[in-house]
Amino acid sequence: MAKVGLVYHPDFLKHKTGPMHPERPERLTSIMSQLEEKQLIDKLTRIEPKPAEETWITSVHSPQHVASLRAVGAEAGNDLAYVDGDTPMSRDSLDVAFLAVGGVLAGIDAVMSGGVRSVFCAVRPPGHHAEPSRAMGFCLFNNVAIGARYFQQKYGLKKILIVDWDVHHGNGTQEAFFRDPSVLFFSTHQYPFYPGTGGEGERGFGAGIGSTINVPMKAGSGDDEYIEAFNTRLVPAAKEFEPDAVIISAGFDAHHNDPLASMRLTEDGYGQLSRIVKGIADEHAGGRIISCLEGGYHLDSISKSVYRHIEVLLGG
Ligand SMILES: [Zn+2]
Repeated sequence: MAKVGLVYHPDFLKHKTGPMHPERPERLTSIMSQLEEKQLIDKLTRIEPKPAEETWITSVHSPQHVASLRAVGAEAGNDLAYVDGDTPMSRDSLDVAFLAVGGVLAGIDAVMSGGVRSVFCAVRPPGHHAEPSRAMGFCLFNNVAIGARYFQQKYGLKKILIVDWDVHHGNGTQEAFFRDPSVLFFSTHQYPFYPGTGGEGERGFGAGIGSTINVPMKAGSGDDEYIEAFNTRLVPAAKEFEPDAVIISAGFDAHHNDPLASMRLTEDGYGQLSRIVKGIADEHAGGRIISCLEGGYHLDSISKSVYRHIEVLLGG
């Protein structure tokens, strides 16, 4: 059995979003209860997150972005303040966002020290919509983009593959690496849909052409369509790219029960996608996978999907 790490901290629950918001703390408590009830948690190596240093945040984001979030967070007081129409911050949100990034970085440290082979980061707020200079779509800092830079700048890894199977397009991650051939960004997403980007023709710019691969998918797509997209588009591209590490933007909102989107993935489908990505990591990247929670808003379905995902990382 492969050693798999789990990043979690109860402080991730302190990012409050209001009673009607789908990106709520219960998403994480539900995932953790599922892992505990089924005793999967005993097989995982717990990794303690520390707040990220700001220099890592600004490896992707502008200092102005950090300053503007600090200002919005300060406005929140005992209430919520809004970065955009659907992205609230509470008093503790900025600290939690630093801790979420720090969790991803701690996961990378654990993988690079050889302590574990792969890591699941049960973090919030999510990150893939956060652009270098703009927070949006429930996201403040782009956890996976900062993780990719950390792999490169702290550990000297050259090529990072980011696989984004969240049902929404990872516009923030795409923008961070659009001109950069050292990061291959692969995204499947419902299209047309929020946030509007992610057309097939968005393939990168300049030296980065070809290192962005968007696979827009029709509403109603399920396990078969996803597995086909991964096998025919991701696997050959990854073979050619030969990544040194793999990061997953692991959103579980393409599940058939999800209230925000219209896809039909099952828990078993997520397991099969996990197996394909694990195959890529095992073949090219010494098994190194950092998987970061993004979306997924049906509590029971994300919990069961995460469970299946981690089972596959363990070798099941
Ligand atoms: Zn999403």
